[in-house]
Amino acid sequence: MSEPKETRRQAGQAAPADVQPTIARREVTNRILKAFHLRADKSLGQNFLVEESVVARIAAAAELTPADKVLEIGPGIGTLTQALARTGAQVTSVELDQRLLPVLAETVGCYANVRIVHGDILKTDIPALLGGDSFKVAANLPYYITTPIIMHLLEQGLPLERLVVMVQKEVAERMTAAPGSRAYGAISVAMQYYTEPRLAFAVKAGSFLPAPKVDSAVLVCRRHTAPPVAVPDEKVFFRVVAAAFSVRRKMLTNSLRHMGGLSGDQVKEWLAAAGIDGTRRAETLSLEEFAALARAFGPIGAAREP
Ligand code: SAM
Repeated sequence: MSEPKETRRQAGQAAPADVQPTIARREVTNRILKAFHLRADKSLGQNFLVEESVVARIAAAAELTPADKVLEIGPGIGTLTQALARTGAQVTSVELDQRLLPVLAETVGCYANVRIVHGDILKTDIPALLGGDSFKVAANLPYYITTPIIMHLLEQGLPLERLVVMVQKEVAERMTAAPGSRAYGAISVAMQYYTEPRLAFAVKAGSFLPAPKVDSAVLVCRRHTAPPVAVPDEKVFFRVVAAAFSVRRKMLTNSLRHMGGLSGDQVKEWLAAAGIDGTRRAETLSLEEFAALARAFGPIGAAREP
């Protein structure tokens, strides 16, 4: 993919009035797809929303004002883009599928506060795109890359205030799971380290065109202003989490040996220093306990340096 290309109204060019029909309706979406001889591309996760109330709830959950900047990932034919535009916020929408650019020019080209960018969100320089200002994200995500997109947004330390995303319901359940539950895993820890995630509402497959084979849900995540636990080195923290969950059903005394080939005695010493019972399994550990392990690993890790 080449550099992202933008389509934007020229300065001084008057914006036509908002005479567009609401796109988030089955008949309007069908009409647009037909007019442009388009079929949804499954390989790009294209499932267009056709339920107006769902689109309205996503836009409302983003809590946008005209002072906000909002990044949308995958505008498709402009369904959610239109609802975001109508809040008055500055909308930047990044779409990978070139076929959709002429459609978007037609459906949301009339909104002066919308900028469509052609590109792959995973290769997009977001600070360059948004000028380093704080922003929110609202999107009906392509499910085949849900976790890479969310992690791409969170791990960079961007000034991201709020993330409102449609994801597979099972993914939303994993991201919001509490310690001790079956769904709790490394992705729950990562999401809860960076944000306060909440499964806001479930969405039926019939709300999309075509209908996906999985259930969906909208996840609302408020970014923590400061990390909820004290971690001297985030890389070590996430290495500990990955090692602990690498063999999920095993006790920590075993799974933590995956932290760079520690001996059994070293792992026992480490667990004792962190005050954690080695017979426990990763899925029972709170964020604070993972942080305690990461802190206690410091001296052990340093002692192992050549
Ligand atoms: N926002 C529209 C809606 O709600 O109806 C479409 C959502 S559809 C689930 C996901 C969109 O993401 C598609 O338009 C797809 O082409 C786009 N997409 C897929 N991979 C992408 C990527 N790597 N970067 C940007 N957009 C992508």
